[in-house]
Amino acid sequence: MRRTLFDDEHDLFRQQFRRFVAEEIEPRIPGWNERGMSDREAWRLAGEHGYLGACAPEVYGGAGAEFRYDAIIMEEMAYARAHGMMISLHSDICLPYVLSFGSEEQKQKYVPGCVSGEILLGICMTEPGAGSDLQGIQTRAERRGDHYVLNGAKTFISNGQIGDLFIVVAKTDPEAEKASQAISLLLVEADTPGFVRGRKLDKLGLRGQDTSEIFLQDCRVPAANLLGEEGRGFYMLMDKLQQERICIAVASIASARRSLDDTVSYVKERQAFGQPIARFQNTQFKLAELATEVEVGQAFVDAVVAAHVRGEDVVSEASMAKWWATDLQKRAAAECLQLHGGYGFMAEYPISTDYADAAVQSIYAGTNEIMKRIIARRMGLG
Ligand SMILES: Cc1cc2nc3c(=O)[nH]c(=O)nc-3n(C[C@H](O)[C@H](O)[C@H](O)COP(=O)(O)OP(=O)(O)OC[C@H]3O[C@@H](n4cnc5c(N)ncnc54)[C@H](O)[C@@H]3O)c2cc1C
Repeated sequence: MRRTLFDDEHDLFRQQFRRFVAEEIEPRIPGWNERGMSDREAWRLAGEHGYLGACAPEVYGGAGAEFRYDAIIMEEMAYARAHGMMISLHSDICLPYVLSFGSEEQKQKYVPGCVSGEILLGICMTEPGAGSDLQGIQTRAERRGDHYVLNGAKTFISNGQIGDLFIVVAKTDPEAEKASQAISLLLVEADTPGFVRGRKLDKLGLRGQDTSEIFLQDCRVPAANLLGEEGRGFYMLMDKLQQERICIAVASIASARRSLDDTVSYVKERQAFGQPIARFQNTQFKLAELATEVEVGQAFVDAVVAAHVRGEDVVSEASMAKWWATDLQKRAAAECLQLHGGYGFMAEYPISTDYADAAVQSIYAGTNEIMKRIIARRMGLG
């Protein structure tokens, strides 16, 4: 079924980007998975071809492109299993903070480098003691003259080793009457003294991606690096998390489709009891069900993307898409692994990494339980 979300120009862009992924990205994936991080050359090449920060206005080197182009990049990267290089984290999750809330000076200083791939972005929200409960963070940013001094510990930070510029979530006014008004966002360059990269964490999945600890130890940041207004950090996060959740949903459907496509090929080849396992009714029913769910999920996620592009408030729908699509991705990976039999458990069969990579999708960008809380609250359920 032709998707109505995209027009001919999008399709052309997809073809170009798919070729880029096949030539420049796919050959690098095994190396990333081995080293536990992507490489700067890949980012530089993506920047050179205009695939980073395409949404940035032309005046900062971007293309002023709308979100559907980014969605194509996310889909193709997920379908290629290029999870090590989180283009969407850089372009669609972090960069929009700078574009929406940054001062003119900040934009001029950082955005061109983000578009070219010289400046890679990350966001430091989560702490060892606070993930879902963002208002419970302990990191402090204390104003001293024309600087802020940051102290605290962050964990699970994507791009933690390779990143150059981080949006750090910190409390500027821990005594604020409302906890939500205590939080501010600061841009911290990774080579600032006191910004300390900790361990690259060993993980179940996303093995090509450098999830890390970050420590802030008397890290002095110019006051000019405050993003937006002091005390407005929580609201800025709430504003931008909608797009983050849509990004995850978009990638999840593409990943589920990849697990499904590979398994359809596998079951046609694998023989048991003198026939391809595709002939068993169980195989057919499982794959027919998954194919149906992928199409149903795609239709909903496409509708959410379209509404987001139109500028509608889709907070509930983005949360629905995030929990439902990631749940589907996990089920698809598990069902498809089962259809691979013992081979599905072997690292050399990508379905095994699909299974491991899917696990985190329901956890980050707000856990699926938090998504359901958001939906319930918007239903007036408290
Ligand atoms: C690979 C990876 C990459 C990540 N990248 C980043 C990053 O770049 N930047 C960043 O800041 N963070 C990042 N994170 C962190 C991620 O966003 C958090 O792990 C996530 O928000 C959950 O927080 P937590 O781990 O502290 O779990 P907790 O908040 O402790 O949750 C534990 C369990 O309790 C449930 N729970 C918590 N509160 C409620 C509630 N009110 N109602 C019902 N259930 C609840 C949760 O749903 C979950 O099942 C990453 C995590 C991973 C694993």
